[in-house]
Amino acid sequence: TTARETLGFQTEVKQLLQLMIHSLYSNREIFLRELISNASDACDKLRFEALNNAALLENEGEFSIRVNFDKTARTLTVSDNGIGMSREEAIANLGTIAKSGTREFFSQLSGDQKKDAGLIGQFGVGFYSSFIVADRVTVVTRRAGVAADQGVRWESEGTGEFTIEAIEKPVRGTEITLHLRDDQDDLLSGWKLRSIIRKYSDHILQPIVMKKEEWREGKDGESGGQVVTDEDETVNQASALWAKSKNDITEEQYKAFYKHVGHDYEDPLAWVHARVEGKSEYTQLLYLPARAPFDLYDRNVRHGIKLYVRRVFIMDDAEQLLPTYLRFVRGIVDSADLPLNVSREILQESKDIEAIRKGCTAKVLGLLTDMAANDKEKYATFWTAFGRVLKEGVGEDFANKEKIAGLLRFASTHSDTSEQTVSLADYISRMKPEQEKIYFVTADTFNAAKNSPHLEVFRKKGIEVLLLSERVDEWVVSHVTEFDGKSLASVAKGDLDLGKLEDEAEKQAQESAAGEFKALTEKIAASLAERVKEVRVTYRLTESPACLVSAENDMSGNLARLLKAAGQ
Ligand code: ADP
Ligand code: MG
Repeated sequence: TTARETLGFQTEVKQLLQLMIHSLYSNREIFLRELISNASDACDKLRFEALNNAALLENEGEFSIRVNFDKTARTLTVSDNGIGMSREEAIANLGTIAKSGTREFFSQLSGDQKKDAGLIGQFGVGFYSSFIVADRVTVVTRRAGVAADQGVRWESEGTGEFTIEAIEKPVRGTEITLHLRDDQDDLLSGWKLRSIIRKYSDHILQPIVMKKEEWREGKDGESGGQVVTDEDETVNQASALWAKSKNDITEEQYKAFYKHVGHDYEDPLAWVHARVEGKSEYTQLLYLPARAPFDLYDRNVRHGIKLYVRRVFIMDDAEQLLPTYLRFVRGIVDSADLPLNVSREILQESKDIEAIRKGCTAKVLGLLTDMAANDKEKYATFWTAFGRVLKEGVGEDFANKEKIAGLLRFASTHSDTSEQTVSLADYISRMKPEQEKIYFVTADTFNAAKNSPHLEVFRKKGIEVLLLSERVDEWVVSHVTEFDGKSLASVAKGDLDLGKLEDEAEKQAQESAAGEFKALTEKIAASLAERVKEVRVTYRLTESPACLVSAENDMSGNLARLLKAAGQ
């Protein structure tokens, strides 16, 4: 065996540890949920790998998770016979955070504990939450399928560094021992641990096993007490939550399950659970998180949906199950039709998957439509977190474009605030009787949109205009060209034709002004030369002396700026 080596944590891990210990203390029980969740993931991973390589199971195909405590040593142990980790994996998984955007994310930390604590949720607390209750954590692990002497012992006090050394480990899997901090002795109780497990981890598929306890009468006048026996006992239900009927599942159970599949430590915003029968048979349990993860805008990052086949875990992040614009959805799909040895390649071509994807998309959009109609406050929370991503859908999902367009919310001159609360239907309901179009302006920022000189005539006439200032909005208006029979029109484009909104007197005034100021507009056009196509008199403006407009078929000024900024 090699000697013990000391390695440093990645800077971000150190920051995360600091933050976690201080800000999650009042929530300390979650460490057990996180460790059990990891143990369960490790069993799932091995089961999946073993489908193609049964030797990995080392003749033990039953998976389980164990929780033990030792009052004398003041330790608590969580062990599993899952996939385990090699030395390299232990170093990478327990010493670094391998998510893109991590550095940028941590540079936002302000030092203000309350604010920063809120950010942790977006990051996921995971393994490091052990240090909330422990001042030393020992991980002993061996990857399934390798020799017993390939075991690894990892240990850390959760400050700056950890040690790692090779050891002998006869059984595969991982054993995590927490050396409890001084004030954590209440965790050294079978009753307490059972209650935490039942509260947070009841839904875990593998049995969570503890030693049974018994009441023994005291002898010779001594008082009696709980005694730990040698017998095993399964503490959780150890069955697939989604396979039960809805009526048998409590709200708390749904929430607890979300925290496991969503790697989130907060409650979900909403969920939908349905069994689909017919040509294609599957169960879906899909959740909307309440908050955006820090890497939401990275279209390559996915930690969405877990795929099961007849309750056997197949894979994480099954990206074929939902379109990219719904990448914030978390949950599971359990198919009755797919083969157990399905691979990612097969998934890409599978007709069953196509049906599931359609069904899941419809369910999520249905959930959102319902929420938008019946719980506006909740929908506003959803929109703030994920609206920008949902907007991508109008160009991505042709079949559902109309439905997605109905879910969009915008800022507008109606309230003149940056809050995006106006739906296209709201807008239409407020249109002037003679108004034919839905007007919008696009700009870099909300303030630029709100103060655009193009709005002057609309403000004067009391016509509402949507104020669009997110990058994705140009994409939205290039795909949503009409809604409910009304076309969308930019106020900054072309000859502004207000149609019936314009009165005759104004038209005539403009025409005569055009004649009157001909000499002036020609002079301006000459001095601007090829920088402009045309200079003309307008009635768009009531206060500003001049503004730029683009021709009907040219790209908007804002889009041109965006493309330029992107180097195109
Ligand atoms: P997450 O579970 O969200 O990936 P964690 O911080 O909980 O993040 O765990 C980090 C990683 O450490 C896991 O992704 C996994 O690769 C590894 N890991 C943690 N616990 C175990 C375990 N019991 N068995 C095998 N690998 C584990
Ligand atoms: Mg985890």
